[in-house]
Amino acid sequence: YLAKEGKTGVELYLADKDRNSPERLSLLGDLRRALDRSELKLYYQPKLDLAAGEIRGVEALLRWRHPARGLISPGDFIPLAEQSYLMRQLTEYVIDAALEQAAHWWHTGVHEQISVNVSARDLLDSALPERLEAGLARYRLPPKAIQLEVTERILMTDQAYTADAVRALASLGVPLALDDFGTGYSSLVRLQRLPVSEVKIDASFVRRICDSPDDERIVRSIVDLVRSLGLRSVAEGVESADVAARLAEMGCDLGQGWWFAEPMSALDATSWLRRNRGQYHDPVKPVPDTP
Ligand code: C2E
Ligand code: MG
Ligand code: MG
Ligand code: MG
Repeated sequence: YLAKEGKTGVELYLADKDRNSPERLSLLGDLRRALDRSELKLYYQPKLDLAAGEIRGVEALLRWRHPARGLISPGDFIPLAEQSYLMRQLTEYVIDAALEQAAHWWHTGVHEQISVNVSARDLLDSALPERLEAGLARYRLPPKAIQLEVTERILMTDQAYTADAVRALASLGVPLALDDFGTGYSSLVRLQRLPVSEVKIDASFVRRICDSPDDERIVRSIVDLVRSLGLRSVAEGVESADVAARLAEMGCDLGQGWWFAEPMSALDATSWLRRNRGQYHDPVKPVPDTP
């Protein structure tokens, strides 16, 4: 792995523990109850066109308000859920919640696409396209109201290229984004073999492009590659104006990160989107490339 982002303490702790450790089982039990008790909520973080300064959709990010432990971030419970039968239920919950929010926005004049993270296994689940199709119809939403994000690792599973579910999603017209790009060793040729429309460059590379020539070169080459394949590039983890400007200069299409906005509750995101409708910020002026 090229990724520089370390795992959090809790994640490491759980990963090191036996599958059936009391710690694990208790958190899984809590998660099962959390689904029924609406302790899980989606937060929304906008994505912006770097050159035009316009909003180009939001990513839905899961938050868990645990009654005793407080806020638990997805990095600390998604990997756990992924190894259990709970993941499927979790994904269903996230998709239903995102569709409901999309309907609310879409029918009140906020036409922003919501990107939903799904695990690789969920993407291959044949029930997923049906669920999406039914949900889109129920809420009278166009397929582009939703996008699915799946990590780059999907490129390494041969199943992905042949899965009926992936084909069904493509024919449904629901776009697919590759998440955390750069952290795996995927063959870049393989990128073309999946119906992907967007590639999200991992924050661990983006964060330091103004300080690290290596990171700068990596991100620049990913942006070039993505463009040459006719896909859209999105930089994750944009934390400063300098990074946003450098990305714009590279020709990166979209940016997402704290510099623009943090993930927000549905309520806060709604007012943010209304407040910043159309032009959010002035077009980013590309800075000349300093060697
Ligand atoms: P991701 O999909 O790559 O999401 C981007 C992560 O970067 C989010 O972390 C977001 O809060 C964080 N982020 C946003 N702006 C910045 C920034 O400027 N700097 C930095 N350093 N980070 C920033 P979060 O919300 O903790 O989610 C972590 C991961 O958990 C996500 O990574 C995604 O893989 C997974 N995840 C989140 N929600 C869901 C979900 O509903 N379903 C599934 N299957 N996975 C989810
Ligand atoms: Mg994502
Ligand atoms: Mg990512
Ligand atoms: Mg990530």
